[in-house]
Amino acid sequence: MNSQQLFRRSRLRLAAWYALVMGGILGLLGSGMAHILVQANWAALEREIESSAGTLHDSLEPMLPPAQDPTGVLQQIFPDLCVVEQPCEPNPSLIQRHTLGISDRTTYYIRLFDNQGNLLAYSPNQPESLSSTLNPDTWQTLQTKDSQRYHQFTTILHGAAHTHALDEEPHKAPSWGYLQVGRTLAAFDAERQRLQWILIGGLPLALGLVAVSSWWLSGRAMQPIYQSYRQQQQFTANAAHELRSPLASLLATVEAILRLPPTQSEQVPTLLKTVERQGHRLSQLVTDLLLLTSLEQNTTAQPPQPCCLNDIVADLTEEFAELAATTQIHLNHQIPDIEIRIMGQESQLYRLVSNLMANAIQYTPPGGSVMVCLAAHDRIATIAVKDTGIGIPLEAQSHVFERFYRVNSDRSRKTGGMGLGLAIAKAIVQRHRGQLALDSEMGQGSVFTISLPS
Ligand code: ADP
Repeated sequence: MNSQQLFRRSRLRLAAWYALVMGGILGLLGSGMAHILVQANWAALEREIESSAGTLHDSLEPMLPPAQDPTGVLQQIFPDLCVVEQPCEPNPSLIQRHTLGISDRTTYYIRLFDNQGNLLAYSPNQPESLSSTLNPDTWQTLQTKDSQRYHQFTTILHGAAHTHALDEEPHKAPSWGYLQVGRTLAAFDAERQRLQWILIGGLPLALGLVAVSSWWLSGRAMQPIYQSYRQQQQFTANAAHELRSPLASLLATVEAILRLPPTQSEQVPTLLKTVERQGHRLSQLVTDLLLLTSLEQNTTAQPPQPCCLNDIVADLTEEFAELAATTQIHLNHQIPDIEIRIMGQESQLYRLVSNLMANAIQYTPPGGSVMVCLAAHDRIATIAVKDTGIGIPLEAQSHVFERFYRVNSDRSRKTGGMGLGLAIAKAIVQRHRGQLALDSEMGQGSVFTISLPS
């Protein structure tokens, strides 16, 4: 499987996981919300029925006739109810007066039972299939043959005579009968069905959106990984390329030594010197690569120590003095009287400043000058390496810190540079939580400024 396929498959897998998790969360949230809404509607509906029944109950009780043969009197106080075993001719204009608190008589129905549980009177709009014997359960949900659902509430009625007895000995008082108030669940069921349709229709749509956004999100998540993979690939290719040239030249020299006729044996030391030089170059390249890797992987386990930057700058200026003198460059430094210390790895800091100074000397023509300035301001220590050298073109300035990048291969190859010096410098600065800035003008010179928290 090539890398493109591998990344595509990983992206697909990541998108599938995203979609699964987000879809699951959305599904749970959606059905949870719908359930809560249905429950709230149901509770409101029961409250409404109960309060209507309560209003009716309180208004009826004082008017109730004695229990013996109540139908005649009932007919007078409920002219809009149908009395059992009598023709039902309700007078719609009166029904509102009696169905106190019940605003919509097409929604609600009322039934009255005697204390034996026999139906006495009922609203004409009650469901047809209702039984005429009492089921005393407080709450009941019924379904008619045509799938209409009703919810009803049953409460005990005490007549006027019984109400006095109830006040005196409530637990012994007999009841007059029962009042049943019910209402159709058509509106509730329609609302519940609407919610179900929203869920059924909306969820696949939401899942589709989740799938598309998951694909996009996984693409974004994979991007830095892909970029880093490409960089690694480029790095391996560059490293192999850099190793190939000195190796080829080393092998060619060794071959030349082996083929040398005994008469020319005096050339052997010169050729061996070339072999040694190539070997050193190879060894330097491998050491630099290992250092870069260890800096990036943070594998140097030594704890940070206080490092005196004054000493580092002074030591390195002294070290490079000879090289500067041979290349006719004026090398100077500016160090403050107070000691500037930072926490870090001393050997790495030496390497950092020495890389910048070596470059400054290398890329400055004879007669030029190199200056190293150390300063501290606001708990930030700065080391500026300034030269009056050839400068770096603007378009190359953002690339010079990349591994194996050379502004112009010819000019740095002449100086033996492999394009790793600034990459190492940048990695060391980053390990010390600092910054490395470049300011350069072609033909005028360059300034590399290291800023480190002290
Ligand atoms: P090298 O080992 O080739 O010098 P570096 O990573 O140190 O590699 O530098 C990268 C490139 O930046 C070099 O090819 C060089 O051309 C350019 N460069 C670095 N420092 C300077 C400088 N002080 N003046 C001009 N060019 C510079």
